[in-house]
Amino acid sequence: MLVEMKRIYLQKAKSQIARPNTIRDINRQIVLNYVRDRAPISRAEIARETNLQRSTVSSIVDSLEKAGLVEDIGTGTSTGGRKPTLLRIKGGSPVAIGVDLTPRTTTIAVADLAGNLLDTDTFPTSQDAGFMSEQIVGKVSKLAKKYPDDDLEVGISLPGVTDQDTGNVVYIPYFRWRDWDIAQRITEATGMPVTIDNDANAIALAELWFGREKIRSARNFITVLVAEGVGTGIVFDGQVYRGDKGDAGEFGHMIVGEAGPVPCSCGGRSCWEAHASNAAVIERYRSLFEGSAAASGIEFKTIVGLAKSGEEQAVQALNETAKYVGIGISNLIVGLSPQAVVVSGSITEAWSLIADEVHDAVEKGIRRRLAKTVITASSLGGRPTLTGAISLVLAKKFSSAS
Ligand SMILES: [Zn+2]
Repeated sequence: MLVEMKRIYLQKAKSQIARPNTIRDINRQIVLNYVRDRAPISRAEIARETNLQRSTVSSIVDSLEKAGLVEDIGTGTSTGGRKPTLLRIKGGSPVAIGVDLTPRTTTIAVADLAGNLLDTDTFPTSQDAGFMSEQIVGKVSKLAKKYPDDDLEVGISLPGVTDQDTGNVVYIPYFRWRDWDIAQRITEATGMPVTIDNDANAIALAELWFGREKIRSARNFITVLVAEGVGTGIVFDGQVYRGDKGDAGEFGHMIVGEAGPVPCSCGGRSCWEAHASNAAVIERYRSLFEGSAAASGIEFKTIVGLAKSGEEQAVQALNETAKYVGIGISNLIVGLSPQAVVVSGSITEAWSLIADEVHDAVEKGIRRRLAKTVITASSLGGRPTLTGAISLVLAKKFSSAS
């Protein structure tokens, strides 16, 4: 059996030392996660599955109910004696405000602990950082007043580099914004804690907590967001791998070939992003109509729609791009050997049309037989980055206390 040997780093020992409550905190999180993953479930079942004392489970459930995290949903069938009360995660109460900033639109949403959306507001993203700060702080403050709750926290997902120590945005290439202090401004205005992360990392976290069962149970997987750019998030040993300075996963700049159809956000044409982004699909589609105005100004979603209705050029542009999506994924598999690779973004709406091309490119790319990596489209729906923003808060509530 594989023995896990984790080194103890003395610089971090202060936060890892076992306090009198450590065992109780760990058990509390385990019970909470049983309710989350196995609901409806009774106290007795949790005690049986965990080998915790029945009285310990009951007292933990009491505290979770008091904290508004768990609720009774009536009685189940009895195996003799009193019928057990079943539990589930408490829905309907505001827990997270997610801010999902993308190059085109920004969405602010309120979610409960189960990830259900209670309120959403979408507006166009402006290139003006000051204006966006005002908009976001104003809207978040309004929602905080509408849903007053001491436990409410904010999660922000954006297409850029963030500093996890200061909570600041270091750089958003799409807008050339540097040192954007949005997290600090929200906390100053509302008093709420803010967690901020790169969109690809936020999606990785969302897959870990809200993805398909197969992905949630995988300890090592990679998410690939195909959008205006290409971003990847790495989950390693059950947590998002950030690298030394927090900017790991920048595989969008991995060299996959020369002369991509569009420039990458870094300006280069050799990057994965230059070959595999939505913009690359649009450019390939346009080049199939050379000299004709038919394809000028066309939107990515329109091309996906045309492909689904069988238009040959749209299918061709998507498949040529899918080949490059696959080439990049094959490089990730060769280097990191994940259990799964999850693709998200609008391109997955045409997944049935492009999946074979992606798989073929991966097979060719890995050259030798490696352990079979599952390659799948995300189950997070049309706005995975919004689920990501919300997950930044929800994951904190459910994650390990140790
Ligand atoms: Zn690049």
